[in-house]
Amino acid sequence: MEIKKQKYVIGVDIGGTHIRIGAVTHENNLFYYFKKKVVDVINVHEPIESLIRFLEEYIQEHMGIKQVMAIGMGFPSVISKDKKSIHSTPNLECLSNTNIVDDLQHYFKIPIFIEKDVNYLLQYELSKRTISEEDIVLGFYIGTGFGNSIYLNQNFLRGKNGAAGELGHIPVMGDESSCQCGNSGCIEVHASGKALVSLYQQYFSDVPFEQIFVKYSEDKRIRDFIRTLSIPIATEINIFDPNIVILGGGVLGMVDFPKKQLEESIFHYTRKPWPANGLTIEYAEDTDAAGILGAARSIYGRLYLNKGNLVC
Ligand SMILES: [Zn+2]
Repeated sequence: MEIKKQKYVIGVDIGGTHIRIGAVTHENNLFYYFKKKVVDVINVHEPIESLIRFLEEYIQEHMGIKQVMAIGMGFPSVISKDKKSIHSTPNLECLSNTNIVDDLQHYFKIPIFIEKDVNYLLQYELSKRTISEEDIVLGFYIGTGFGNSIYLNQNFLRGKNGAAGELGHIPVMGDESSCQCGNSGCIEVHASGKALVSLYQQYFSDVPFEQIFVKYSEDKRIRDFIRTLSIPIATEINIFDPNIVILGGGVLGMVDFPKKQLEESIFHYTRKPWPANGLTIEYAEDTDAAGILGAARSIYGRLYLNKGNLVC
């Protein structure tokens, strides 16, 4: 008797620093997870080819292409509205302006999906909650950069070009610091993991980076950093009056990150009485696999949209 082999959706979460990969079953079980440094996977001189090699080796080693239903990849990028191309990736410049979907689909002959990484992260959080049709959920992810995902009308807000929610690039009055996006004065220059690393290198390098909040969370420069994080968050809360705010990302997952100060500062800058009153702030689950599981949940939902029949 032939044993029916397990089918998977492969999720890939490409952040500014790490690339995470895993194979997820329809029952949401994760297999063959691991992470690597992006620089050890993506060759800047041939980014698509090196990504294909990485995926090919992963698939060959663990399950074979026949067991893979689709691949979903989240990028820290502006994704074109047709979801085929990466328009702009300030933290991963070599992938900017590439039509990654056609190239990978041509090679692997299976459906390929790409998405803004934080949309997959928020998808994972949504899948754990009961969300009603009218709910607005905002996700803020402070990692290498400042990621933002906006969920309303039962979908992610994309905008005319796919560039909605570029909250890290709102301008700061009177600031001319240059940002990797090409503009100057973007708040991400001051409100991101990169900004924290810069502070660390200038003032706090007597402790390991991971311990910066343990020793220095009361230092004025760190308190100012936390306050700066709250400004774009409160700005967007004032625009959308959301049902739930979800905060996450590597910086917030660091030891002794001052969550209470951040929440108080968000409340301070949010308009009274509403949307400040009863504002619901929750934290994203601190798991490396959220982007992978969110990608799989999103893709299984699309593959089985048609009353349980596979559509792709
Ligand atoms: Zn910018």
